[in-house]
Amino acid sequence: MQTLETALVSLGIEEVASSISSLIKEAEKKKVSYEEFLRMVAGYELEARAVKREAILLRLAHFPVIKTLSGFDFSFSPEIDPCLINQLAELRFIQERENVLFLGPPGVGKTHLAIALGVEACRRGMKTYFTTLEEMIGRLAAGSPMMLSRRLRRYLSCQLLVIDEVGYLPLSATQAHLFFQVISSRYEQGSTIITSNKPVIEWGEYLSDPTLAAALLDRFLHHCHVVSIKGESYRLKEKTGLLRAQHKRGISQSTAKQSDL
Ligand code: ADP
Ligand code: MG
Repeated sequence: MQTLETALVSLGIEEVASSISSLIKEAEKKKVSYEEFLRMVAGYELEARAVKREAILLRLAHFPVIKTLSGFDFSFSPEIDPCLINQLAELRFIQERENVLFLGPPGVGKTHLAIALGVEACRRGMKTYFTTLEEMIGRLAAGSPMMLSRRLRRYLSCQLLVIDEVGYLPLSATQAHLFFQVISSRYEQGSTIITSNKPVIEWGEYLSDPTLAAALLDRFLHHCHVVSIKGESYRLKEKTGLLRAQHKRGISQSTAKQSDL
């Protein structure tokens, strides 16, 4: 005859199987009813599976580092509306297959916020993938063009794709077309978060093709929450005194002049 543990394993109730004796002991101690005991066991299995799934999703997401919203200091960036970010963290935008665009100069927390939303998505069981634009385009461009659809799968199969650092290096026509393919394939199919230091008005030049840029932005911005950040770099916060002095002297004007888009 099978032991209780092996029977549970055969049924696929593996998390409970490894803890069944302590669950029975706890139930005996608390003198719970049969029904309560079954609820306890089912709850234990579900909880343990959720923890395991979250760990797997976090690993598959390839975040360079884990960032959370609780670790984000909104008082440092008063122009970011915490209500909007907290509303995004409810992740309805993923269910609705909408996008998010974080715009702003370096160091203002764009990547932090994008990762934090991605981590939240993993916690809620949603398949997420993080990449920089450079890495994504490098992977898509490498290898035979015949296998492109296979390479695209990584970027199309997730519910949330985070594309970080859009706007640093100008793209060639081929690279811009690969970027377009990802955005147009995900349009109304899955959510994408983009972080960029470049106002979208400059994307025509950046993508070396204003028509392609317009087509890409048309799709991406159709259902999109735009978070425009215009603060000082958090990385340089110890040097804020120096930065303020520079602002006063008019040396650092690029962030102050950046338009919303
Ligand atoms: P960006 O992507 O805009 O260049 P990052 O998100 O990489 O900036 O932020 C740079 C560093 O500063 C990261 O370590 C990030 O966690 C931290 N950081 C930025 N803004 C904040 C903030 N408001 N509260 C806490 N940490 C922040
Ligand atoms: Mg960044």
